[in-house]
Amino acid sequence: MVKTSAAALAVLAGSAWAVRGRSSVVFGPSEWRAKSKRRAIALTFDDGPSPSTPRFLDVLAEHRVPATFFQVGINVQRHPEVARSVADAGHEIGNHSFSHLNFALKSASLIRADFAQAQTAIGDATGVTPTLMRAPFGVRWFGFRGMQAQLGLTGVMWTVIGLDWKLPAAAISDRVLSRVSDGGIICLHDGRGTAAKPDAEPTLEAVRRIVPALIEAGYHFETVSQLLWPTN
Ligand SMILES: [Zn+2]
Repeated sequence: MVKTSAAALAVLAGSAWAVRGRSSVVFGPSEWRAKSKRRAIALTFDDGPSPSTPRFLDVLAEHRVPATFFQVGINVQRHPEVARSVADAGHEIGNHSFSHLNFALKSASLIRADFAQAQTAIGDATGVTPTLMRAPFGVRWFGFRGMQAQLGLTGVMWTVIGLDWKLPAAAISDRVLSRVSDGGIICLHDGRGTAAKPDAEPTLEAVRRIVPALIEAGYHFETVSQLLWPTN
């Protein structure tokens, strides 16, 4: 149990940066871009698997690029075969919690149980034990550090977020392509939280534009682990 004074808690609760800042490591180890600036990027997709996920896999396969999918445990239990097809296609799988809650103010035990449940759901469906986790809404809290240590999870934020849950396709792709940089991590969504039938069409259409444009610009696509910890 981390002992924290009420005053410190109040300061942290008011500190949006500590909780949501992409480079904040206040609540646990977290990465948001590659340290070496190779001309490489990692595409990441949160909130899947969803009924739309196979079409994302088709676009990635067409261009032969890998991505990283931060899957939600509830969605994995709904679509275990889709979850598995993501892993079978060679993409990296990360843990995006079981319930997709905003974990601010939640207890350490609840946080640990939720991410552990997602590890189990993802492992059962895909045979993969994730080593990466992304906090829903990018919100970290007390309990994340211990949960991550116990489950062996490195936190991953992003360099560019597509705002794809609210923007039309052209705006998503324009936003991503104008902000991308060497070593960047791009955050998009192949689902929408725990929605059973999300409309991921704007994201899919944006991905159809983004991937060939980045290939044309000379980017090498890597999984998050390849991007963060290159082996050569
Ligand atoms: Zn999410």
